[in-house]
Amino acid sequence: MSRSGMDTVNAFLLDLDGVLLRGMEPLPGAAEFIDTLHATGTPFLVMTNNATSTPDQVAGRLNKMGVAVTPDDVYSSALATVGWLQHRYPAGSRVLYVGETGLRVALAGGGFELVDSHRDADVVVTALDRTITYARLAEAALAINAGCRFVATNPDRSIPTERGIEPGAGAIQAFLQATTGVAPTVIGKPETAFFTLAIERLGCSADETVMVGDRYDTDILGGARAGVRTMAVLTGISTAEELTTAEFPPTWLFADLVELLAAWSGERSSFLVQR
Ligand SMILES: [Mg+2]
Repeated sequence: MSRSGMDTVNAFLLDLDGVLLRGMEPLPGAAEFIDTLHATGTPFLVMTNNATSTPDQVAGRLNKMGVAVTPDDVYSSALATVGWLQHRYPAGSRVLYVGETGLRVALAGGGFELVDSHRDADVVVTALDRTITYARLAEAALAINAGCRFVATNPDRSIPTERGIEPGAGAIQAFLQATTGVAPTVIGKPETAFFTLAIERLGCSADETVMVGDRYDTDILGGARAGVRTMAVLTGISTAEELTTAEFPPTWLFADLVELLAAWSGERSSFLVQR
């Protein structure tokens, strides 16, 4: 695969699971790659659909593995959803949410009032909630039926766990959609909103930004639709065959972050030498 053009990659959006880590283990090259981004002053964000953890929790997990990411480097679909809402609703707007700590902290930190009754809500936001109750879902459905906008952090219908496949955020959305007949506005990957907000937060242009991911239908497809170039790594979900035969194949394909870092640093140093 051609390496040309990699010298114009100046900013990175990085998926988390299958790119930087798997379970409790860092993936090969993750620590060195992040160190290189810091050392070269290259802007990056860890862009995860997971809306249950706070940036502090994600950064803490990575730090324990020796990967030097700060909470400010983490951009979850919960934070992006808050950013999306802030563009459309005034501070103090009342949100009825279905979700865990990551979403609650992001909404409260973004200046929204959290309410529990459908009668008080301006908007409904849903994410994965592993302690969900029927009463909470009923409040959300009543609010949506009363005309509240229905916003969802991420579309993932299932999540792989040690036990097998369990329901994801998308399954909770589907439950509410089945009840109300209303489809949510979805923010997370592969939706373009998440990428646009992440690029805005990086302060870079789409032209100089690349999305690094392991999964075609979220990272690579979403990046392509958002107009950024893409780098796929084979340390997660999608296989080389799936990626190369897809509708929007990745711009570049690597075995892992070790290979990616070598190619990108090599391009940049030869570019600097030419200059
Ligand atoms: Mg992934």
